Amino acid sequence: MTTPAPDIPSVADSKPAAWLRVALDVPLPGLFDYRCDETVEPGLRVIVPFGRRKLVGVVVEQVDAPAIDPAQVKPVEQVLRDLPPFAPEWMRLARFAAEYYQRPLGEVMLPVLPPPLRKPSAYQGKRSGAGPVARRDASQARREGKTAAADAAATDAQSAASQPPVLHDEQQAAVDAIAALTAFKPVLLHGVTGSGKTEVYLHAAQRVLAAGRQVLLMVPEINLTPQLEAALRARFEPVIGAKGLAVLHSGLADGERIESWSRVQRGQARLLLGTRMSIFAPLPELGLIVVDEEHDSSYKQQEGLRYSARDLAVWRAHDLDIPVVLGSATPSLESWQHAERGRYLRLTLQNRARTSSLPAVRLVDTRRLQMKEGLSPHLTDAIGERLARGEQSLVFLNRRGYAPVLHCGSCGWVSHCPRCSTFTVLHRAEGQRGGSAYRLHCHHCGYQAMVPRACPECGDQDLLPMGRGTQRVEEHLAGLFPQARIARIDADSTRRKGSAQALFAAVHAGEVDILVGTQMVSKGHDFTRLGLVGVLNADAMLFAHDFRAPERLFAQLMQVAGRAGRHTANGEVIIQTGYPEQPVYQALKRHDYAGFARHTLEEREATGLPPFAYQALLTAEARELRQALAFLQRARDVADQAGLPALDSVTRYDPVPLRVVRVAHVERAQLLVESTHRPALQGFLTAWSAWLPQLAHELRVRWQLEVDPLEI
Ligand code: ADP
Ligand code: ZN
Ligand code: ZN
Repeated sequence: MTTPAPDIPSVADSKPAAWLRVALDVPLPGLFDYRCDETVEPGLRVIVPFGRRKLVGVVVEQVDAPAIDPAQVKPVEQVLRDLPPFAPEWMRLARFAAEYYQRPLGEVMLPVLPPPLRKPSAYQGKRSGAGPVARRDASQARREGKTAAADAAATDAQSAASQPPVLHDEQQAAVDAIAALTAFKPVLLHGVTGSGKTEVYLHAAQRVLAAGRQVLLMVPEINLTPQLEAALRARFEPVIGAKGLAVLHSGLADGERIESWSRVQRGQARLLLGTRMSIFAPLPELGLIVVDEEHDSSYKQQEGLRYSARDLAVWRAHDLDIPVVLGSATPSLESWQHAERGRYLRLTLQNRARTSSLPAVRLVDTRRLQMKEGLSPHLTDAIGERLARGEQSLVFLNRRGYAPVLHCGSCGWVSHCPRCSTFTVLHRAEGQRGGSAYRLHCHHCGYQAMVPRACPECGDQDLLPMGRGTQRVEEHLAGLFPQARIARIDADSTRRKGSAQALFAAVHAGEVDILVGTQMVSKGHDFTRLGLVGVLNADAMLFAHDFRAPERLFAQLMQVAGRAGRHTANGEVIIQTGYPEQPVYQALKRHDYAGFARHTLEEREATGLPPFAYQALLTAEARELRQALAFLQRARDVADQAGLPALDSVTRYDPVPLRVVRVAHVERAQLLVESTHRPALQGFLTAWSAWLPQLAHELRVRWQLEVDPLEI
C-alpha cells in the first residue's frame, strides 16, 4: 500500500457521493460528467457550471468513475426536484430521437422542455423563490380559490349538453378494431372528410382513460380549432375533472406551458391535446397516441431538431407496446404504403357522418374562358346562387397579399428583395384601401419597402400589380357582391392574438357570407353552413420541382374541398385549372384517394423515391454560394476518402444551390444522400456527421443535417 504524498489532495478523501453523466444543450457531442454529494436519480434535472456559464442539464446516468481526471470534474450546483424524474421511457425516446436525427442528446432533451424549466435563472435569480413550478402551483391555487364556484357551474352545464352521438356502423367497427388490439400495431384510420374520425378518437380515448391510462391526442394546429378543445372538455371533464385535460402548443405563455407540462408529468392530467411538441411530453402512464391529420406537414419541426412528431409517435407507441392511431382523409404516402404492406392496420370510413354525399367536384377549364380578376363566370355565378340561398362560400387561394409582384409594363422591371433572390409581394395595409397604403414585403426575410412612385429602371409611372393574392380577390368580390359580408383569413388578417379565433367564430356564427382564405381555412374546420368551395390558382403547385408537390396538392385540395357541404347535402367544389386532364384533378373529381395513391406510388417506385428510398439532406449556408458548395463538395469527398460505412448502398448526389438561393444575404446549397436501406443510411450518417463540424469550421459555413426531409 502506498499513501499519497501529503501535498496531493487525495481523491479517495474527497470522493463524492455520486458521479453524474449529464446531457447539456451545447453543440458538442457526448455527455458531461459532474460530481455530487448526494445520489441523484437519472431523469432529474441539475444546474451545473459550464465554462463561465451555468446550465440546466438532465442526469442521464450515475457512473462509477468519471470519464476524465476526477480532479477536473466540477460539482453540481443544484439538484432540481420540483418535478418527478423523467421516466426511463422518456429517456429512451430522447435517445432514439438523438440517434435517429443525428444530434447530441442534450440538444434533444433540453429544447423540448418549457423554457423556464431549462433556465438556471428561473431557479437561482433574485425573485425565483422555489422555482417556476412551485410559483405556478401557488398562483394557480390562488386562482382556483376564486373561480371554483364558477367552474363547477360551467362543468354542470357542459356535461348536460354533451351527449355523444350514436356511432355509425363504420365508426363502431373502427372503435372495436382499435379496442381489440392487444399488441403494438399502428392503425391508419382512413376516413373521408366529414366521416366523423374525431368521434372514433374520442371513443378510443374513453376506453383508455377508463382503464386508468393517459392519452395523447396530437393535432396540427390548436389555435385554429378551439372547437375540438371545447368538445374534449365537454366530453371528458365529467370523467377526468377540469385538470384532467391539458393542452400544449407554442402559443401558450411560459406559465401556462409549465402548468400543462407539470400536470402531465405528475400524472394529474390524463388527456393531453397538443401540437407536434407534445410528442416529447412526459406521460408516465401513456396508453394511446392519436395523430389527427397525420399527413400534415406541421408535424415536421423545421428548425433545430428536425423531427417528425408523427414518426416519433409510432416509435414511442412501439417502444411502449401501445396502440397508435394515425387519422386522415389523405394519408401520407409513407403511411399508406405501410398499410398496403400490412404493417399498419387500415380502418376505413367511407361515408360522411351527417350527410349522404361528398361534395360534387367540378373542374373549370380556364383555357377557354374569359376570366375576370382570376374568377371564372362559373364560380362567380355559383357564389351568387349560394348568396341568394343564404349559404356560405369559401374562395381558396394559397397566396397572401395583394399581388405576388409589382411590374413595369414598359421595361419589364419587377419588384425584388435586395437581400434575397426573390420577388417582393405587394401588400395592402390591413384595414385600408387607399393607394398610399400599399407596401412591398419579402416573404422570406421580412424586408419591407415603400412602393416606388416610378419604375426604378426606366422611370415609367405605370407600375402594375401582376397576378393576385387573397387581398385582391377579397377586393374584387366586394365589388361584385356589395351586399355580401366578406371575411378574409390568412396570416396577415390574423396577426393579432385572438383575431383568428374571432374570425372563425364569425364564420361559424353565420356572420360571414363569403370567406376568402389560404390553407389556414382548410384544416379541420367543421363549417355548418358552407355549401361552396372555389379554388383559384391551384396549378401553381402542379409544376413545382419537389417530387412531393402532387401529393401535397392533392391533400390540400381534398381537405379544402372537404369543408363544403358537411351538414347540407348539396356541397359543391369548383376547381379552376388550365390542366383539368392531370391525374391529380381527375382523382379529386372522383374523390379517389386510393387511385391517386396507387398511381403516385407506382411512379415513386419506378423512380426510386420515398417511400421506396430513405433520404437525408445536408444544407450549408454561407456569405457566398461558392463557400457553401465547396463545403458540400468536401463533405462528399470525405465520405469516399474516409471509407465511411455503407458507401456502396448510399447514393451521394451533387451539391446544388437551393431554389431560393439567397435569403437575408445568406446563400444556401444542399446535398442529398439516399439509400434503399434505412439502417445503411443511418450508419453512414452517424459516421459522416462526425466529420462535418471540423469541415464547417474550416470553410466557415453553417450546416444542418435533416433526416427524412419533406422538401428538397
Ligand atoms: P372528420 O374529422 O372525419 O372530417 P368530424 O369528426 O369533424 O369529421 O365529423 C364531421 C361531423 O359529423 C361533425 O359535425 C360531427 O359532430 C358529426 N358526427 C360525427 N359522428 C357522428 C355520428 N355518429 N352521428 C351524428 N353526427 C356525427
Ligand atoms: Zn420600367
Ligand atoms: Zn428578403
